[in-house]
Amino acid sequence: MEILTTLQAIKDYAAQAKKQGKSIGLVPTMGALHEGHLTLMREARAKCDIVIASVFVNPTQFGPNEDYDAYPRQFAADCEKLESVNVDAVFHPEPAEMYPEGYCTYVNVEGDITHKLCGAQRPGHFRGVATVVTKLINLARADEAFFGQKDAQQVTVIRRFVEDLNINVHINMVPIAREENGLARSSRNTYLSPAEKEAALVLSRSLKAAKAAFANGEREISALEHIVTEELHKEPMANIDYVKAYAYPSLKPLTEASEDTLLAIAVKIGKTRLIDNVILSA
Ligand code: AMP
Repeated sequence: MEILTTLQAIKDYAAQAKKQGKSIGLVPTMGALHEGHLTLMREARAKCDIVIASVFVNPTQFGPNEDYDAYPRQFAADCEKLESVNVDAVFHPEPAEMYPEGYCTYVNVEGDITHKLCGAQRPGHFRGVATVVTKLINLARADEAFFGQKDAQQVTVIRRFVEDLNINVHINMVPIAREENGLARSSRNTYLSPAEKEAALVLSRSLKAAKAAFANGEREISALEHIVTEELHKEPMANIDYVKAYAYPSLKPLTEASEDTLLAIAVKIGKTRLIDNVILSA
């Protein structure tokens, strides 16, 4: 696997692949890789001739009081995992490579889709995401890019700016990878103590309860949100940031749930903010 750390190195690598007529799949990550990331890599591997992963803790998507400094960085272990799923190249730049002195251009997706859910709680977050993903797609000259349903709102935002800015890439969404006990895999799970990890199971449990109610005919949005909230309240270590249902992928408000309804939650367990979601289906 090639390790690319400069803009020139990734540009040369992509140019070479293009010259050979190869399709390029890009999988952007912030590292501390787990099975969820590897699912994305495998999808890319199956669909594209060349797979480029990026491992970059992107400073512009973190708020001032968020965990940018504390975010887990374990590049050597990440490389081993990427090799195990036959990734061709990993792009791992320093922040100053991506945002050199004088940098002043950002991709700002305006409107409702960035103002709700995580957008309401994390001002500037999606501006940072949209900016870095635009840069990565351009650098990698990606034909396909792969993102997880774990960040379902992020996928909506990315699809929006890709369409609005006429970027020539196809965005793929991959289902949430979970541990056997239901916990959605996340790099931030490494922050959890054993007791907190146990408490964090309430997230997937609460969504499962709403999914079961939907399967039994419950269609009222407020009732479904209430089922999730009630379940979360049973766990003393859980503090709710939001429990919300919207149409997916539009993120428009709904009065009745249907099979394309996204039920999304953000919950703090101790100091760690976790997100999870389900798309309802009968
Ligand atoms: P991150 O490193 O957290 O920025 O995530 C990089 C990509 O992996 C994003 O597209 C995430 O949605 C995706 N991802 C993270 N966790 C999971 C998971 N448990 N299942 C599927 N995709 C995931």
